[in-house]
Amino acid sequence: MERKYNATCPFCGHHFKVTYLQVNLICEDCNYIIGYHEDDKLPEQGSFFLLPKGTTYHSMLKGNVFSRRKTKKKLHHMLNGVVNWHNGTVFENGHYIVRPCLLIEDNPKVRWVGSGNYWCSADINNVEFL
Ligand SMILES: [Zn+2]
Repeated sequence: MERKYNATCPFCGHHFKVTYLQVNLICEDCNYIIGYHEDDKLPEQGSFFLLPKGTTYHSMLKGNVFSRRKTKKKLHHMLNGVVNWHNGTVFENGHYIVRPCLLIEDNPKVRWVGSGNYWCSADINNVEFL
């Protein structure tokens, strides 16, 4: 049987098991889309989505900002998200052992062309695809 490792949903704190280098993770508790996802698991270029009012997003022009109203956006492309597997020390069954640990660095992000033709991006979990 393939070895399983502990992971934690960064949104709801739910603990779940993953296999080494597993990708396309979705929290079974809150459906949060976590870490690196392959291209064919993500929405296609040119899809439309809603950016809800009050959503934090990143603009290359303005930095981190939030949406003042609900707006419809066209997806230019996705950023796949980032995970980092590293050897970490964990306490297990009364011993400290070194084993692979999953660090979730970034979730997939939607990217669209914002004002002044600067890139804008937001966590996929914060938008609603149409
Ligand atoms: Zn969760």
